[in-house]
Amino acid sequence: MTPPNRYAVVGNPVEHSRSPWIHAQFAQQTGRALSYERVLAPLEGFATTIAHQRAEGLHGCNVTVPFKFDAYRLASGPGGSLSTRAALAQAVNTLRFESEADGTFRVFGDNTDGAGLVRDITVNLGVSLAGKRVLLLGAGGAAAGVLGPLMALRPSLIVLANRTVGRSQQLFERHRGMCARHGTRLEPVTLALTSLTPVVNDLGGFEAVVNATTSSLSGQELPLPPRTLRPGGLGLDMMYGSPARTFLDWVAASGGQPRDGMGMLVEQAAESFEIWHGVRPQTAPVLQALRSLMAAT
Ligand code: NDP
Repeated sequence: MTPPNRYAVVGNPVEHSRSPWIHAQFAQQTGRALSYERVLAPLEGFATTIAHQRAEGLHGCNVTVPFKFDAYRLASGPGGSLSTRAALAQAVNTLRFESEADGTFRVFGDNTDGAGLVRDITVNLGVSLAGKRVLLLGAGGAAAGVLGPLMALRPSLIVLANRTVGRSQQLFERHRGMCARHGTRLEPVTLALTSLTPVVNDLGGFEAVVNATTSSLSGQELPLPPRTLRPGGLGLDMMYGSPARTFLDWVAASGGQPRDGMGMLVEQAAESFEIWHGVRPQTAPVLQALRSLMAAT
């Protein structure tokens, strides 16, 4: 009997990843035989790890912190190709390997983070961001992946706030061409009280705040001025579980609607599943089961 096709999530650290569980649910739901494992890559060894895994028959993988930019470089190199959204983000979270007749392999890189976030906001939560003011916190791989898809929702303004302003400036430069097309104003600022306070005071707050930073991992609170989030606004942290708690408590205290990153996680996984298997699984039952699983552990 031929073994099932192999898939994986590659990261460092990776032991916390729920992706193997989610893809197992999707496989069962759609009647696909596959294996999906965690692969820990050394911090300086992403490309070597992928080459080794590919030689061992890996068909595709998700890529998580901190390798999304390495995955982008891999798929931009010889034998590689990128989706339009991954090229814009310059960050890749999904790789698909394709064998050629001469034994060489090609690699296709995509980024499903933005589609996952947008689907969670618009379909699962039923929230429209059209004409709204959005604050996006962070300018790492996740923020890069979601900025274009967020703009496509046609908010009137996206303020892009990052601790290292050079990174938000780079993201801004790459996306400024989209502004006119979507009728969105895009502004990069430093994620600091001194920069954000006048912005918040001018605008009277944001209707949505999306946290794509890892600040809570180092136990640091974000420097957000009072009334950053308007009452009733959406406050979404891409993290889930205890690391998301501080931000979600802040959202609740602001009178907003708190949302963790679990819905985004399941939706971006469904998008990756479709890229590999050509079928889109149902996400609602998997999200519900994942929430029950997390609550019980
Ligand atoms: P990166 O490491 O690429 O980026 C981290 C970001 O956090 C940077 O903008 C960094 O700012 C900022 N940051 C780190 N520490 C602090 C701090 N103390 N104060 C303020 N800002 C800080 O990570 P990713 O972008 O790949 O991931 C971000 C988060 O999103 C992760 O927790 C990840 O798990 C989550 N995520 C969730 C997904 C989901 O499906 N739910 C999908 C993708 C990501 P600076 O540039 O200044 O260093």
